[in-house]
Amino acid sequence: MTKEPMKCPKCSGAMVQGFIPDYSDGPIYVEGWIEGQPAKSFWTKTKAAKGEGIPIGAFRCEKCGFLEFYADSKFAAR
Ligand SMILES: [Zn+2]
Repeated sequence: MTKEPMKCPKCSGAMVQGFIPDYSDGPIYVEGWIEGQPAKSFWTKTKAAKGEGIPIGAFRCEKCGFLEFYADSKFAAR
C-alpha cells in the first residue's frame, strides 16, 4: 500500500482505517482471515484454531460507507 491516503473505489471518498471486533469469547479479538473452504467441526461447528487467522483491517469510506478488507499482521492489536 502507498503512503497516500486511500480513496474509495466507488466514490473517491476518504477511506478510514478500522477493524471488526470479535466479542464472542469474553476477551475482544480482531477478526482474522483464514485460508480455504471452511471445514465443519463437531465441537466448534467450524474448524479454525484461535490465533490462526491473519488480522483483518477494515477500511470504510466516510462518504458512502463502502468497506474494503485487508488481511495483514500489521492489523493486529498493538
Ligand atoms: Zn465511497
